[in-house]
Amino acid sequence: MASSETYDLIVAGAGMSGSLAAGIAAKNGLNVLLLDRNDRETTGKKNNWGWTCGDAVAGSHIDYITEKTGIKFSKPGLDLKVDGVYAFSPDLEAKYLFDGVGYTLDRPEFEKQLLDFAIKSGAHYVPHFEVEGPVMEGSAVAGIFGKDERKEHKTFSAKLVIDALGVATVLRRRLPDNKYIEKNVDIDDIESTGRYIYEFDLDHEDLKYYDPKNCLIHLNQELAPGGYGWVFPKSDGKINIGLGVQKRSLDIRNKKLGRSDTVQSLIDAYVKWNVTVKNPRIFNKDNNGKGIWSVAVRRQMASLVYNGYIGAGDSMAMPNPISAGGIGPALISGVLAGENAVRAVSNGDTSIKGLWQYNLDYNDAYGKKTAGMEVFRIYMQSLNNAQLNYGVRTFLTAKEASDLTVGNIPELSMTSKLKMVLKGASNINAFKSLVFVVGKMKELNRMYNEYPRSPEQFDGWKARVDKEIHEAKERFKPNPI
Ligand SMILES: Cc1cc2nc3c(=O)[nH]c(=O)nc-3n(C[C@H](O)[C@H](O)[C@H](O)COP(=O)(O)OP(=O)(O)OC[C@H]3O[C@@H](n4cnc5c(N)ncnc54)[C@H](O)[C@@H]3O)c2cc1C
Repeated sequence: MASSETYDLIVAGAGMSGSLAAGIAAKNGLNVLLLDRNDRETTGKKNNWGWTCGDAVAGSHIDYITEKTGIKFSKPGLDLKVDGVYAFSPDLEAKYLFDGVGYTLDRPEFEKQLLDFAIKSGAHYVPHFEVEGPVMEGSAVAGIFGKDERKEHKTFSAKLVIDALGVATVLRRRLPDNKYIEKNVDIDDIESTGRYIYEFDLDHEDLKYYDPKNCLIHLNQELAPGGYGWVFPKSDGKINIGLGVQKRSLDIRNKKLGRSDTVQSLIDAYVKWNVTVKNPRIFNKDNNGKGIWSVAVRRQMASLVYNGYIGAGDSMAMPNPISAGGIGPALISGVLAGENAVRAVSNGDTSIKGLWQYNLDYNDAYGKKTAGMEVFRIYMQSLNNAQLNYGVRTFLTAKEASDLTVGNIPELSMTSKLKMVLKGASNINAFKSLVFVVGKMKELNRMYNEYPRSPEQFDGWKARVDKEIHEAKERFKPNPI
């Protein structure tokens, strides 16, 4: 291998979380190396397909990074401002509005702005570098190895490595066995998901299918088993349209219906199902018009740090377990990872103990609500379309549903709802289960509010969390049809 260069910090991956982490750390005086397999024009590209994403993000997350970095975002990065998100029941008869300004992004443009911030802040950026794994010194990560643009093996050393390689990270998955960070994610906690970016002719106006001012989500266990479909508006009448599925739910649904659908065939069927979309044409700017990728929909890794190692964004399974929104958590964790890298390197302690504060900071900023939301997602995946239709109409008010998706738990009880018209044994059971789920969510939120203050308290806490999640998975099995 070629000789090693040494840095304070290596950031692997120049997507959203990585560029932010590198920029914040470099701005605060660290000697930072930022590596990515892409180049400046294609930074953040996830795979050969492109930047595969729905690209919807809450305005509050954009405000957060503006405040932390001073970057002002506007067009073209912020492609279209939206008023909110509507989630529809399968029969389209009921909906929840999740209010609040957001944006759909022109992802390549947005990512370039973040990389510019990292480079201007002083990070040393090396494109076309394929990271292959961590370099270990004893039980600590001490650098990374990989191949440069000439396909030559190379290692880089650092006091600390930030893993921002996204969902398929080779760094987390090649850590030594340890009790802090799981190396693998349960396949039931992964959504296979994909989308098109289309120009199209509007067949007729119907705000249940396409709304130029709001993002639309379609819950439907037949169209998108174990996930949902989405139609997000973009500028100039374009759309980002796609869906995600849980593999197990898809298998069950295919078996019961005698079908052999794949994610791609379901996406195509979903486009056809949309009665407003006529004559769709792939909008292939940046070769980014079509793609499939994965997103983890579970609580983030129980610890986000190991000796000499911090994880941010999708590498740590951070997306929201209900909505699969991972842009917000990637932006937040990128900032916090950068800030914590500065603190740990300045303190001369990049051991797991020296890095622990990052766990607490991320937990406070976002992570403490995700385990509860994971249980809610597991519950949702156990409901069929009829129960979802009834549930969206009856179980929760729009305010309660909106609260749930941001981790605030409503007061729900059988007695409160019996005042209302709960009809049908299956629906009443589904509501009873929801009351159980809400109880579990409260319990998990309480546990995360008591996140261990140091690595010594970690074992007992993690065992309690794992037990709660295990119980939820045992009680609610995927049952789409
Ligand atoms: C189909 C789909 C739809 C989605 N829709 C939404 C949505 O609407 N809203 C939302 O908030 N979230 C959405 N998400 C999730 C969101 O896209 C991710 O959470 C987000 O991209 C995570 O950012 P990141 O910086 O952690 O990782 P990534 O964006 O994955 O960036 C990782 C970077 O590391 C590079 N890299 C990876 N491996 C290597 C390697 N070995 N060597 C060198 N470089 C490497 C990659 O090329 C990339 O540049 C969606 C995801 C999918 C798949």
